[in-house]
Amino acid sequence: MAEKLEFDVVVLGGGPGGYTAAFRAADLGLSVCLVEQHRALGGVCLQVGCIPSKTLLHCAEVAEKAEEAAEYGIDFPPFELDLNTLRNKKEQIVKQLAEGLDRLCKARKIRRVTGRGVFQDESTLQVEGEKEDIEISFRDAIIATGSRPATLPESPEDARIWDSTAALALPFVPQRLLIVGGGIIGLEMAQIFRFLGSKITIVEMQDQLLPPADVDLVQPLARKFKDRYRILTGSRLNRIEPRDNGLRVSFGGQEKEEKEEFEAVLVAIGRRPNAEDLGLENLGLSLDDQGCIPVDERLRTEIPHIYAIGDVTGEPMLAHRASHQGKVAAEVIAGQKSAFTPMAIPAVVYTYPEIAWMGITEKEAKEQGLEVLKGKFPWGASGRALSSGSALGVSKALFDKATGRIIGAGICGSNAGELIHEAVLAMEMGADAEDIARTVHAHPTLSETFALAAEVVDGSITDIMPPGKKKEDKS
Ligand code: FAD
Repeated sequence: MAEKLEFDVVVLGGGPGGYTAAFRAADLGLSVCLVEQHRALGGVCLQVGCIPSKTLLHCAEVAEKAEEAAEYGIDFPPFELDLNTLRNKKEQIVKQLAEGLDRLCKARKIRRVTGRGVFQDESTLQVEGEKEDIEISFRDAIIATGSRPATLPESPEDARIWDSTAALALPFVPQRLLIVGGGIIGLEMAQIFRFLGSKITIVEMQDQLLPPADVDLVQPLARKFKDRYRILTGSRLNRIEPRDNGLRVSFGGQEKEEKEEFEAVLVAIGRRPNAEDLGLENLGLSLDDQGCIPVDERLRTEIPHIYAIGDVTGEPMLAHRASHQGKVAAEVIAGQKSAFTPMAIPAVVYTYPEIAWMGITEKEAKEQGLEVLKGKFPWGASGRALSSGSALGVSKALFDKATGRIIGAGICGSNAGELIHEAVLAMEMGADAEDIARTVHAHPTLSETFALAAEVVDGSITDIMPPGKKKEDKS
């Protein structure tokens, strides 16, 4: 006999989307049940994504900064790495944050159910529990089941072919590592495994790394990367043949195929929504052509009392999108007039230097036939960047020529992921170049570089020559 429970809201999936939705719904006075198949909360982000990867990237950055200190006359001896301590530290951080989520759940009197949930009909979720099945009746439901790594078609089964989850477990440090995919996850992993001692080859199908980002934003990073990694753009992986001593891999462009052996291959070619096996057919809910659950701006599916949030609803698959959507879904259920209509969702690549962008990119503006005014400030002209060894960088801001308002921005450089939020706020507030240029920024700071990019468009730039001025002087 199944145990029967009844709640105002059931949330399926305990990642950043699901737990945020559950917390907000409980805070708004609703009775909430949170169903997660794993014992620990946090989803991909906390368990096998954002947090473990950023912990390891932090270590890679520390090592790199120590190396760079030689320019300032500070010489550290080469570092020695204890892989077990590193693994334990990463796991301890994840555990600490997961325990924090458990406490927040308890304090809000949210009922936790551990097991896989499947919808039986429009008001019932069945959970296969560890001891017995549980039947949960609900008034509203939020689907927050996230995503999983995309796999290569016809890839052999082999423990040396990793996805990001396998790689972050640090099973061993391969001497030669092939990374398939030069997107955010691929580049972050390259940085981590270089630090650990691997020699890395990256194959990327498109003609640039980080295909969605503007090429001038990627350039400073690409310049640094070309001495560190073998990067093959416009190249695809064709075959992997497992051998005793390694993986024999064929890859290449249209003209030439190469064969090489690697100790491990990391596949980072995107993520797929977890929308199968949820019993959606019992609800009559259909998926879009990417396999995602379509929602409106209030996060309602085709069935108005069933909501979906986070990665399962599609791109951009980012934790901050999931958590913001989670809040909106809970507020709509509680009767508030909320909607998820952000003007921009920032994307950050946590390499060293970092890359971050928000709003429209220059290439998207071109595709849309939108006329933009562009301001760009090279970090080589920033006192703070130079003094802190961060001269490799650029800040740029894009303004709509018709309205004068900021519609996009990108930063490549140290702490770009922190700095980008000024641009996001400026866009949400409808700021123009003058608003940003006249906002007094402390000197010397890296955030000045964003204001200086706006000054280029405002026409008030003095830190570099105004665009066109050199030409005018010559004539
Ligand atoms: P998820 O975090 O995927 O959580 C879904 C949960 O639902 C899981 O815990 C799963 O077990 C559970 N579940 C699924 N089906 C069922 C079921 N039937 N019953 C019960 N439970 C179920 N994003 C960023 O914003 N910044 C980053 O720096 C970043 N770094 C990343 C690094 C890596 C290596 C990876 C892989 C991802 C990274 N991401 C990052 C993406 C981020 O992790 C996801 O966007 C985010 O976790 C999505 O949250 P979510 O709540 O939608 O789903």
